[in-house]
Amino acid sequence: MNTNSKTKHLKVVVFFIGAIATGLVSVMNSENTAPTPEVEEAPVVSAETFADIGEMLPEAILDIRYAGNNNFVGKPVDGYAAPRAIVSHEAMQALVNVQQQLREQHRTLVIFDAFRPQRAVDHFVRWAEDLNDSATKQEFYPSVPKSELFERGYIAAKSSHSRGSTVDCTIAEWNDSLQQYVELDMGSPFDYFDPVSWPSDTTISDVARRNRMILQNIMVQHGFSPYPQEWWHFTLSGEPYPETYFDIELTDSLMLTR
Ligand SMILES: [Zn+2]
Repeated sequence: MNTNSKTKHLKVVVFFIGAIATGLVSVMNSENTAPTPEVEEAPVVSAETFADIGEMLPEAILDIRYAGNNNFVGKPVDGYAAPRAIVSHEAMQALVNVQQQLREQHRTLVIFDAFRPQRAVDHFVRWAEDLNDSATKQEFYPSVPKSELFERGYIAAKSSHSRGSTVDCTIAEWNDSLQQYVELDMGSPFDYFDPVSWPSDTTISDVARRNRMILQNIMVQHGFSPYPQEWWHFTLSGEPYPETYFDIELTDSLMLTR
């Protein structure tokens, strides 16, 4: 199959920071910026590498926190110009299977984050280094000194999300009387930097512990691995780009087709 037949939409060509592995850190727009002489040209990947969760799972609820103010940075994060959720096609297929099973239970996935541009992770690092900015402390890290967010592993210079096969998610259940989906009680909010967010935490209610296991079990059943320090975070086992940290900006105009 040739490329033209695969995509009728605008095909967006983007650069990624596989770059980091080879010491290349500059990211350039393909139309406007020529590579500077001292910088080796970054590898090019087509947007066909990824699938759009919003398009593939229309029933899933997208609550893309880093595109708005309701996150630990307190404002939209670099790279999230639009509330988009994209993942590798392999991770997408696994999520389709998860959603299919949830649908039979009158439940749905809620996605907080999926692919995360490397520039967003860089933004997190700059935020964590700015010890004067503690505006979101009460809501997101009340018991952890901001100066310890790195050493305790809550913030890092690289994130598995940038490899395109990791999602942050929860489950919502249809509520007949409210006539809407309601998120299951998971015992702590998304991105709450605290041991209470560890899936194994025993201080939360029995209901919340059970709900965490419902989420973990269904994700694992369809190929994801859980993360011991965040109940919401899952990475596809055998992910297709284990060494690549992509830097695609999430915008309204980013079109993904296959
Ligand atoms: Zn995550």
